[in-house]
Amino acid sequence: MYISKADALTWFEFFCQLPDDEPLPPRQQEIALAALSQIEEAEAARVEKLRSEIPGLKSLGGRSFYVGDDARFPRGCRSCLLGTGLSAVRKTNRCNLRCPFCYDYGEMELQPPIGAGYWEIGGTRFRAEDLPLLLSASNRPTGIAYVYLEPFMEIELYLPVIRAFHEAGIYQHLYTNGTLATGENLRALGAAGLDELRFNLGASNCADRVIEAIGIAKQHIPMVGIETPMTPDFFETFLQKKDAVLATGLDFINCAELHLNPNNLENYWGEPMYMYRQGYLSPTWSHELTLQLMRRAAEEGWPVAVHDCCNATKFARDLNLRAHEGGWFGASAYGMEFGAIPYAAFLPILEDDSFPFLREAPLPEGYRIGDVVL
Ligand code: SF4
Repeated sequence: MYISKADALTWFEFFCQLPDDEPLPPRQQEIALAALSQIEEAEAARVEKLRSEIPGLKSLGGRSFYVGDDARFPRGCRSCLLGTGLSAVRKTNRCNLRCPFCYDYGEMELQPPIGAGYWEIGGTRFRAEDLPLLLSASNRPTGIAYVYLEPFMEIELYLPVIRAFHEAGIYQHLYTNGTLATGENLRALGAAGLDELRFNLGASNCADRVIEAIGIAKQHIPMVGIETPMTPDFFETFLQKKDAVLATGLDFINCAELHLNPNNLENYWGEPMYMYRQGYLSPTWSHELTLQLMRRAAEEGWPVAVHDCCNATKFARDLNLRAHEGGWFGASAYGMEFGAIPYAAFLPILEDDSFPFLREAPLPEGYRIGDVVL
């Protein structure tokens, strides 16, 4: 079923007035999903055009795209997309920043602790002395990632665990906003055997001292890169500081497509939104900025790998993870992060004349404005 943009707008104005806990009847759901699908298709066409303009675009096994030096493509991403998955390790439940794009925005003080002396690995609580048991009793992952909030709040606690996994030959990567990184703690991480460090450079809006920390990290840790959500602010500041960033000798830039949840949606209210595979909700500009950055990197021959970590990549990641976990055909943890479709978030894109649908058609009888649609 196709729908015109004008009809979609009228219906969405109606849907967003309904109580959140009141599910739409099936035909109204069909209308809502048809409109979301047409927004998704129109956005996909824009993405395809931008992709076609990137010289030397490379595919990672059909699961993701990148440009640049293959040897500098992050091994942590290969593990995530082609290996046994992300294999998340969680420890720190705090952060020193409050980024508008943070998934925990407004809830930072409410993040549950893992517990003193404890680590959460694959959803289970361990003490450091349990790691030999874990390694002997489980299938070894191709890599693990320290993923929870800001590890440099207590980075000294990580060193023995990183050392233990390093001695077991497991590839490890860690995320940081970089604002608490020093020569000393970066050197200690390298000495413990951390393989890869990823800076969320957008968290500090490309602060000079974080750029400096990237350069210091590169002296101690084999793979160092940036992983940050693509926003207009980051895009603009990054291009101003691009030469300083590239001079650090970093290996890769992972451009994450910003996706929103009930915590951070309000910070991007009024932006043009689309939904990928009825799951992640994102402003359309985020992925488009990534592709513009990749094109520039390719045209100017930046000495790094620039990776398009978009919603499609996350979709592939979750399929890969479930397949390795022995999930059924098609199983995935990928999905919508809202209890119900946030209809009001789509009004700006439906009102935007510069974002046409690829194809429009009158609604069939029984689905039209003024019909009783159940
Ligand atoms: S640095 Fe990371 S964890 Fe901290 S507020 Fe920003 S996005 Fe959230």
